[in-house]
Amino acid sequence: MKLYSTNNKNNIVDLKEAVLNAFPEDKGLYMPSQIPRIPDSFFKNIEQFSFAEIGFMVTSWLTQGAIPEKELYGIIHRAINFPAPVVEVEKDIYSLELFHGPTLAFKDFGARFMAELMSYFLSEEERETTILVATSGDTGGAVAAGFHKVPGIKVFVLYPSGKVSPLQEKQLTTHGDNIHAVEVQGTFDDCQALVKEAMVNPELKSAYNFSSANSINIARLIPQSFYYFNAYKQLKDKSKKIVVSVPSGNFGNLTAGLIAKKMGLPIHSFIAATNLNKVVPDYLKSGNFVAKPSIATLSNAMDVGNPSNFPRMLALYEKEGSTWNDLVSDLSGDAYNDSRTLSAIRDVNRNSEYLLDPHGAIGYLACKKHKVEEENCQYIFLETAHPGKFSDVMEKAIGEISIPENLLAYQSKDKVATLLAADFKQFKDFLLA
Ligand SMILES: *Cc1c(COP(=O)(O)O)cnc(C)c1O
Repeated sequence: MKLYSTNNKNNIVDLKEAVLNAFPEDKGLYMPSQIPRIPDSFFKNIEQFSFAEIGFMVTSWLTQGAIPEKELYGIIHRAINFPAPVVEVEKDIYSLELFHGPTLAFKDFGARFMAELMSYFLSEEERETTILVATSGDTGGAVAAGFHKVPGIKVFVLYPSGKVSPLQEKQLTTHGDNIHAVEVQGTFDDCQALVKEAMVNPELKSAYNFSSANSINIARLIPQSFYYFNAYKQLKDKSKKIVVSVPSGNFGNLTAGLIAKKMGLPIHSFIAATNLNKVVPDYLKSGNFVAKPSIATLSNAMDVGNPSNFPRMLALYEKEGSTWNDLVSDLSGDAYNDSRTLSAIRDVNRNSEYLLDPHGAIGYLACKKHKVEEENCQYIFLETAHPGKFSDVMEKAIGEISIPENLLAYQSKDKVATLLAADFKQFKDFLLA
């Protein structure tokens, strides 16, 4: 498999390099040079395959032998060991539930697959590898859970003290073993700066073999395509057009869906559903992309003003002069505010006895709007996290909800973290101690 950088088509690397060094020097993002079309027979027979089998086949086609079959089989079966069911919410509107993994959010798919793939590529190296990751909340939890007890890898998760929710903090600080939480007296940007400085510091580099588990790693995108195929498998009526609504922030999920469509998955079109951080819906309407500072909303995992995967979406459709035209034939965009989000949670709970989380609610709203405009389609929205992770918002919408046992289990564990000032010397001394 070959990948190129979106900033320089001549910068070509193999999968191992793209996974272990996710930041090309030209500051682009790695994209597959070729996205192969899957034979029609696969789609005809898709109902016979398990979720993991689908993941295995899709990865084999996409990575074209970069991972030996036997290894790939193990990687997929260890990473993708929980379901992604499609649930009917109302006539022709379905929820694709992506919250059945260990941290109850879709980021588990990417984090677990990335951990397995890194561990495989690093098994060829002699030295233990250390992952440094800065988090503002959910990503760090999924990464910590994904790498927990993965052999040969040690993880330091840096998070801003007092700026993550109590539950998120527990998901970062209670693993133990190879996962070390560092509570930084500063902001997310301070955490990010410490990580960046550490990675290039000569003394630390001679003591540690560093790698990064940042969110733009292509290894996080690949498994996010699996559940689109697996959702298609679960639909009973495959003759009706399928429209998929993706609640989006950094647009990794949507990019993975567009890749699945490029591979031949019969999805008619996608909807980029956002909160008021709507630079992509605005781009789809006007053809102009203008990054903005982010706005705080109730669906806070989507509060992104400059989506990191946007260049990848363009790259998929890039042709002389017609990128925007081609993109808008597959993708439309819609944005909803907090009061629409709360009333969607309330209405769906009342009418269908289904619990939307604040992110899925935005995906649902976009389905509802498009269904009025185009009747003869089936709509699927991604339910990106369990509502129990956002009990404060849920309480505003419908009152107290019950919290799943997985989450309660985190709450009862003891926090273990090293408290540091936002100061590089302190962080360095800590790592060298
Ligand atoms: C990260 C996240 C999103 C946004 O996904 P992107 O791939 O960044 O667009 C949506 N919902 C939840 C719950 C998330 O954690």
